[in-house]
Amino acid sequence: MTLLNETHDITLSSWVTSANNKSDFPIQNLPFATFRKKGSEQRNRGAVAIGDYVLDMAEVAKLGIFTGIAQKAAEAAAQSTLNTLMALGKDANSALRLALSKALRSGASEEEKLHNCLVLQSEVIYGMPCQIGDYTDFYTSIHHATAVGSLFRPDNPLLPNYKWVPIGYHGRASTIDVSGQEFPRPYGQLKATDAEAPVLAPCERLDYEVEMGIFIGQSTRLGERIDIENAEDHIFGLCLFNDWSARDIQAWEYQPLGPFLAKNFASTISPWIVTTEALAPYRINFSHPENDPQPLPYLSSENNSQFGGLDIHLECLIQTKEMRSANEQAVKISDSNFKYSYWTIAQLVTHHSVNGCAMNAGDLLGSGTQSGPEHEQAGSMLELSRGGKEAFTLRNGEKRTFLEDGDTVVMRGYCQKEGAIRIGFGEVLGTVLPSV
Ligand code: MN
Repeated sequence: MTLLNETHDITLSSWVTSANNKSDFPIQNLPFATFRKKGSEQRNRGAVAIGDYVLDMAEVAKLGIFTGIAQKAAEAAAQSTLNTLMALGKDANSALRLALSKALRSGASEEEKLHNCLVLQSEVIYGMPCQIGDYTDFYTSIHHATAVGSLFRPDNPLLPNYKWVPIGYHGRASTIDVSGQEFPRPYGQLKATDAEAPVLAPCERLDYEVEMGIFIGQSTRLGERIDIENAEDHIFGLCLFNDWSARDIQAWEYQPLGPFLAKNFASTISPWIVTTEALAPYRINFSHPENDPQPLPYLSSENNSQFGGLDIHLECLIQTKEMRSANEQAVKISDSNFKYSYWTIAQLVTHHSVNGCAMNAGDLLGSGTQSGPEHEQAGSMLELSRGGKEAFTLRNGEKRTFLEDGDTVVMRGYCQKEGAIRIGFGEVLGTVLPSV
């Protein structure tokens, strides 16, 4: 597990001055994305965020200013997807982080050369950070699982396996896209409780889910189990993830095999992946409540108990079509924190591979909706509107129980505490279009 090192030093500042003033992207963060310049024909290339800029890793790699595994990692980061960089594993990624940290510090001799590798974030179009081979979605918020369970199964909200197994299902990667995704309201089979038969119609209970995305780094082979102690060696980093959900389609289809078409019509990730190394200052201890079953030994370790949790603030905002026409900014409708997760990212990876399932660089694990213990911390509209029974009112007077056409959902994430530099995930946004 990565602990603090010189790249987290709170006294570091960058010669990119916009990084030094409450940016999501100070020199202590250094997340990765892929991009191309707006209006250009250039191929996508890897980037690192610093202040208001992206550092073009294709240009950085060409300079050849780094050495050894750091230069090798810089060359991998220059590619159009980050899969090769992810697959290189912790040592190479850590070496590149240190090299970038040194070169971007105030007074660094690399300033003049690297200055030409900067592009304003407002002048780029982000790409998918990597090719996602496989996507799995977990269900790690016990508050969400209980709230949703009580709507779908009032007499039996939390199934007995929940506190033993990190529950998940295999999703589909083909409709995952980067922030800015627009998608038509999905069609599906809808069945009213009192109706005799379902009908095919556009979803009427369209929802979002506030999640973290976890990207696999170093791959494993079939049959290989990832030990909890080494689990984080196989995690590259985290992004924001909106797992759009069609609640009416879900209610009718989810038994007996779990979510299917209610989930795979669209899913949106933030462009930036914050590495687990950057998150080191925001590690917190992890435990299950005393009276709950304790994790089986393969899901338990001293490090996981001491540092397994992550304190990441999550916010969800909405901008309706009406707000957009009136030039009004998105308004916050809930906030939560990843620290409420019932399982750690190490436990998810360990459990996922315990049967020998191969994990590949670029695979995406969704954390599941991150709802906190309070109603206002709900990570979905299903919970905020209590199953669609109570509309909530936005600042401009509009009401919502579920999403309407033209709604843009924005999610933001950041880490902040005394004695550390605030780092952010940027944002992920997506917009619902009318059904076609
Ligand atoms: Mn989900």
